[in-house]
Amino acid sequence: MPVRLLNDHQIHDLLALLRREHAAATTALSHTSPFELLAATILSAQCTDLRVNKVTPVLFAAYKDPAALASANLTDVESIIHSTGFYRNKAKNLVGMATGLVTRFGGEVPRTMDELLTLPGVARKTANVVLGSAFGIAAGVVVDTHVIRLSRLLGLSRHDEPEKIERDLMAKIPRSAWIFFSHALILHGRQTCIARRPRCERCVLSQLCPSAFRAFAPQSASKASPRARAAAAKRSPGRGGGQPSTSRSLRSKTTGQ
Ligand code: SF4
Repeated sequence: MPVRLLNDHQIHDLLALLRREHAAATTALSHTSPFELLAATILSAQCTDLRVNKVTPVLFAAYKDPAALASANLTDVESIIHSTGFYRNKAKNLVGMATGLVTRFGGEVPRTMDELLTLPGVARKTANVVLGSAFGIAAGVVVDTHVIRLSRLLGLSRHDEPEKIERDLMAKIPRSAWIFFSHALILHGRQTCIARRPRCERCVLSQLCPSAFRAFAPQSASKASPRARAAAAKRSPGRGGGQPSTSRSLRSKTTGQ
């Protein structure tokens, strides 16, 4: 059965809870400039941020700016970034990206989605990361694997494709919250709503989440604690079609956040 979609009031409450729980959420990729964040984000495809953060200090010590990386030997770059996976493609994209910055953007990272998308290795996700975290520009919502999973579990989108999910999120989340929202959701996906083993019993979103305690068979019903089962039963459909009382009380507590 498709997950129930959250209404506007519930999304307001969801944002307030995320702000309370993940107030300092930001990118986990180490960087000191937009150029470094762009390179790190290209490297983070199919790789953990932890691994990328081990590789980038070596990469940026060898190639301090776009001009240096643009004239790099491809094999040297490959050997530095080898452990991040897909290293041949990533090395080609890194050098191509740096060449694009030097030849078309005066050695600077551009600040628009359209311009960023012309660079090798840069799709909407990477462009949103750079625009949001390096420049504070909310051009869209970062949709990575965590955001895809949680958007569906939380009833924010029923789509599978990142572009359609981003469109749903942009329509439902206030633009002023786009940058924070994706950071917070990614952090929540790493710490609490972990793929295949979500920790619903300790999740601050469980009062609102339409998938709480029932998204994954191993943790729902049979294996959930009596307390968790009672909480899930309270949330089950059939309580009446109005706004949940928990949501109402939360909104009154969080007004102004
Ligand atoms: S309640 Fe469970 S399924 Fe819902 S967001 Fe939290 S951990 Fe994920």
